Amino acid sequence: MIELLFLLLPVAAAYGYVMGKNSAKNQAHEQNRKITSEYSKGLKFLLDREEDQGLEHLIKLLEVSADSVEHYLILATLFRKRGELDRAIRIHELLLKQPSLDTQVIQSCKLALAEDYIMAGLLDSAEEHLVELVKADYEEALTPIIQLYSQTREWQKGVNMYESHSDLFTEQVYCAAIANFYCEAALERPAQDQCDTEYFERALKLPKTTIRPLFELGHDALGKEDNVKAIYYWRKLVSQFPCAIPLVLQDLQICYQRLNIEHEFYTLVNDLLTASGVLVKIKHCEGLMEAGNTEQAVEYLTDTLKREPSIRGFSFLLKLLAQRQDKFQSVLNEVDNLVSAYVATKPDYQCRNCGFTSHKLYWLCPSCKSWESILPSQGVDGY
Ligand SMILES: [Zn+2]
Repeated sequence: MIELLFLLLPVAAAYGYVMGKNSAKNQAHEQNRKITSEYSKGLKFLLDREEDQGLEHLIKLLEVSADSVEHYLILATLFRKRGELDRAIRIHELLLKQPSLDTQVIQSCKLALAEDYIMAGLLDSAEEHLVELVKADYEEALTPIIQLYSQTREWQKGVNMYESHSDLFTEQVYCAAIANFYCEAALERPAQDQCDTEYFERALKLPKTTIRPLFELGHDALGKEDNVKAIYYWRKLVSQFPCAIPLVLQDLQICYQRLNIEHEFYTLVNDLLTASGVLVKIKHCEGLMEAGNTEQAVEYLTDTLKREPSIRGFSFLLKLLAQRQDKFQSVLNEVDNLVSAYVATKPDYQCRNCGFTSHKLYWLCPSCKSWESILPSQGVDGY
């Protein structure tokens, strides 16, 4: 009998093992069922727009399983995309009240909440969260906080943010952003302010000079009828940034005209010919015509257009030809009108970073949010 009991021991052990395993399985199954049931209930309430009950169910689920945080973040993102910001905010705020979340989840949740706040126009709350994240070295919060300061036009705060994280930016991005923050601050100062160029000057003292401070200082001088100073800044600009020449060339010519030294303008144009686009070449032709060398201008432009095709150059050539061809003048003018109408449909500016195009000059690209990346268009339709 005792032997029989010994023989049955392994069977009893195996039975115990199987039963134990089944019980654990059943528990897990029961928990899954509970999660699925609460989740379905919660979603149904939300879909029926019974927000409070829906969120209550989903929060119950969160207590059951902290692993489902991802689901909530996705759900909140969906609400935000649909413009239902109050719901997105509610979910993020409730998530942040959960005691068991790890630091990384809390930070990404705070960032998401700050983005909700920005979209909802609750900018102070957004700033509070973003500053807290930046102080905790959460780098993902840096771009949104800088964009927020640019939106609220708090330029000095933006500069401070860049300066305290200078190692995270390339020199070009860092200097262009700070220079533009200073320029925006300068333009907001009252006109009677005696030191209104102080911020422009600060922008010029950055390790890398960028286009805008020189552009603005030239305009400021032109506004004050200080043509010599305007010429000084814009000559610097055109020699350092050939791609930006079309931004100031016309006004630069006006400064030289006012000083009765237009011949010096054409000397400058001559110096710029190799490094720049069609606009400088057109100005060169104007210089030749001014000196009575129309034939030479036609020859030069025809030759240039063969090498560098340009619609604007072609339009100017038509004007030149119309001036000397009495017989075909009306036809040439007609063709030029058509070409000019075509050119007018083409964007004047293009972002070198993302390709955004426009007829207006933006210092901050509305599409990719980078400073000074929008410049006069190039190529066949450009300048
Ligand atoms: Zn862009």
